[in-house]
Amino acid sequence: MMLNRLIKKALKSRCRYRVAALGVNKKGEVIGVTFNQPRFCGEGGSLHAEISLMQKYGRKISTIYICRVNRIGGILPIHPCKRCREKSEELGIKILSITDAKMLERFI
Ligand SMILES: [Zn+2]
Repeated sequence: MMLNRLIKKALKSRCRYRVAALGVNKKGEVIGVTFNQPRFCGEGGSLHAEISLMQKYGRKISTIYICRVNRIGGILPIHPCKRCREKSEELGIKILSITDAKMLERFI
């Protein structure tokens, strides 16, 4: 169920890499879902889904699950970038990619 939520959210992204992030608290409750968004023209890159989630919920988040999809919602590999990793370490948040097979089992 959470996987469907992530895929639907990722499909809203207008970036070349369609990525969604879902944040859960220590109890495992979902507290927010975001997708990446193109930033202002000329600056390059995008506002990563993980970053916008961390900006919104900060330390309320215990773990962030990230998911990247193609145009039709098929799951593609994704790894958090250096900036997101550093920010999450600063806040004590774990970022996990659901492309990890074990992770997928838990989500389906
Ligand atoms: Zn990032």
